[in-house]
Amino acid sequence: MKGRDTTTNLRVAAIGSVPGEIVLDGMGVSRGIAIGTVYLHDAGSISVPERRIPAANLEAERARFADAAERATRQVAVLQEKAQDLGGAAGEELGYLLDAYQQMLHGSRLMRGVAQRIESERINAEAAVQQEINEIVRGFEAMEDAYLAARVADIKDIGRRLLRALTNTPYRPFSALPKAAVIITEELTPADTALLNPAQVAGLATVLGGAESHTAIMARSLGLPSVLGVAGLLTKGIRGGEPAIVDGAKGVVIINPAPATLKTYRRHRADFLRSRRVLARLKDVPAVTTDGARILLQANIELPTEIDHVLASGAEGVGLLRSEFLFMNREDLPSEDEQFEVLKELVTRMDGRTVTVRTFDAGGDKLAPALGCSLGPNPSLGLRAIRLGLARPELLQAQLSAIVRASAFGPIRILIPMVATVEEMRATREMLGDVVRRLKKKGVAMSDPLPALGAMIEIPGAALAADALAWHVDFFSIGTNDLTQYTLAIDRADEAVAHLYNPLHPAVLRLIQFSAEAAMRARIPVCVCGEVAGDPRFTALLLGLGIRDLSMSANNIPVVKQRIRNLDLVAATRRARVIMDQSDSARIAQLLDGFNAGEA
Ligand code: PEP
Ligand code: MG
Repeated sequence: MKGRDTTTNLRVAAIGSVPGEIVLDGMGVSRGIAIGTVYLHDAGSISVPERRIPAANLEAERARFADAAERATRQVAVLQEKAQDLGGAAGEELGYLLDAYQQMLHGSRLMRGVAQRIESERINAEAAVQQEINEIVRGFEAMEDAYLAARVADIKDIGRRLLRALTNTPYRPFSALPKAAVIITEELTPADTALLNPAQVAGLATVLGGAESHTAIMARSLGLPSVLGVAGLLTKGIRGGEPAIVDGAKGVVIINPAPATLKTYRRHRADFLRSRRVLARLKDVPAVTTDGARILLQANIELPTEIDHVLASGAEGVGLLRSEFLFMNREDLPSEDEQFEVLKELVTRMDGRTVTVRTFDAGGDKLAPALGCSLGPNPSLGLRAIRLGLARPELLQAQLSAIVRASAFGPIRILIPMVATVEEMRATREMLGDVVRRLKKKGVAMSDPLPALGAMIEIPGAALAADALAWHVDFFSIGTNDLTQYTLAIDRADEAVAHLYNPLHPAVLRLIQFSAEAAMRARIPVCVCGEVAGDPRFTALLLGLGIRDLSMSANNIPVVKQRIRNLDLVAATRRARVIMDQSDSARIAQLLDGFNAGEA
């Protein structure tokens, strides 16, 4: 999925060979070219309240600290691997530093000091970390030794990692951004990404993060040219304020570009924006193949602020409203009324076009502290999404109630994430029935017919049982992002395995095909709403497998529409049949790319 740009073919000669210019490679996850000024984003200060811990809870507090240290250790271990991959003097230097970090996290004065403070002062672990760090830093600064003074930054960094793990609140507003800021940082959570204002931010580059992570998805929906997984990004002495270029198609970041580089990229950016404008003219034409098949193109929404963009894109509905935004960047839970107001506004603005609201899918890399989603040994496999909703029925009931109330203002469908079993759908339908009865008793208005209830097909088990599941739901929406992640056991947010993430693996394609056919046999609608839906490379294959409903980032609707309008569905179906007979992903890619290039 690297290099998603299909509308421009950039060729930049001699870049990287100019003295002073720093060129770094990563994964291009959001197309476009940013030219701006570096804003070096770090964790900033984290507010640390001090609490008294009763004697009976001291053990639990120590365990919480041990857990945070473990999480910080895992983070540093990932960076150590990156340092090894980096190689050379820079890799070696980074390796030494990270070894020192690991030592600090295991049995150092810092760790002992924190444990002692929790014990003797009976304070919470965050306060103990903060106090211990302050004391060590004061001691080092007094020593007037350049080497030790440099270590202060490392100790503060470790302290920040521990505090972040303990407070579980990555909320870090971006302040004092330069004009056309190019955000450079180690990692950005989806919640952080949601805070970026595209009017101020030109682009994004991070050390960590996979191409299908929610950070990448969010960057695409904000239209921010972005490159993730840039090893060495923070070892080049970048201080902030330098001119920079982010090429989100090629996956390249250039710091201090030479005048000739800048000139080349200005031209490419103008070409890119021009091709966007040309595509935007397709807004009001239908998505029809050359042989007359009508395809439904809907938008995915991550944040309500995207609605203007969705309307401008010509989307025929919202195929996936990721309602997690309602729970992000806050410590409390949104009330039913608050959820209702947001949904009502969105549905009203969609003016008769259907909005598919997915109930909260918190968990994995989608953090929502107030929901208390599982941060257990493997958050992607933990208590999240519908599992969390059924375990904490008061949360799901409130959301279902808000959705049903909003249905009085326009067509709504309800989509349930991470469904694994028929029982989960039965329990959800029962809960929905109770919610509807309660609202009716109070005389609350709602749509007639009631909102349809669908299941995300994104767990391989659900795909394999799709024929049974289809009889218990009103529609399917195939989430290829998680379906690929779980089928291939590839963490979609982990750049270390990003090169292995491949929706063209025959196992993933068979699960998509099986689910689509099960839906067609049960005569229920089926949509694809994962990232492949918005990538024109996959359009012919998805249509060839029988999919007629695609939901994607609004930014991608024009380019997918253009692909559809040049596509012969009979030929695409024939090619899909040949592809489905293959067992080798490389051959599948070749057959698909050949077809896209015009091969008969
Ligand atoms: C998916 O998994 O494909 C999907 C659309 O859901 P999300 O990306 O929000 O997990
Ligand atoms: Mg998913």
